[in-house]
Amino acid sequence: MHQRRNWLQISGRAVAGLTDAFAIVFRHLFRRPVTEEYPEFKRVLPARTRARIILTRDPDGEERCVSCYLCAAACPVSCISMAGEERADGRRWASWFRINFARCIYCGLCEEACPTLAIQLTPNFEFCERDLLTMVAEKQDLLVDHGGKNNDYNFYRRAGVDMVGGKGTHIGEAKTLNIKSNLP
Ligand code: SF4
Ligand code: SF4
Repeated sequence: MHQRRNWLQISGRAVAGLTDAFAIVFRHLFRRPVTEEYPEFKRVLPARTRARIILTRDPDGEERCVSCYLCAAACPVSCISMAGEERADGRRWASWFRINFARCIYCGLCEEACPTLAIQLTPNFEFCERDLLTMVAEKQDLLVDHGGKNNDYNFYRRAGVDMVGGKGTHIGEAKTLNIKSNLP
């Protein structure tokens, strides 16, 4: 008798559970779906979203990158490489600049490290490829004609292009040492 009562209780609970579940399913059958279909509907992503990287220009239209290698040093997966050169007026630039997007983890550390705001991550994530080699972006693929998140910043207006006068000739600056004169 006791066993039969237990069995009836268990069966009752199972039927109640099934009824609740079916009720929820039927309720949602007639509701408008809240999901959005990609790519027909695209959400507007925040400006700080970290995806495809660009190299930006300053307000004068000049390349911001001074090829200081800080971004390459900060990159945890070593996917940035470049070569630096110097113009006659002392301004540095990257003769080539390469990012392997197949290796990049979009951490944003390169952007944090950059003193000139040259390298910036954008919300554009739609650039996947089947062939990994085509994910290697050269400078011409990265360089844009605007300032990205900060159009007004100009590194050289703050830092100057080149030092005027020789070392040790400025006010309060110690004279340079001839270290070879200390040799025995
Ligand atoms: S986002 Fe991260 S992984 Fe990608 S290039 Fe910058 S530092 Fe390297
Ligand atoms: S992108 Fe920025 S951190 Fe990287 S080399 Fe150019 S100036 Fe330096």
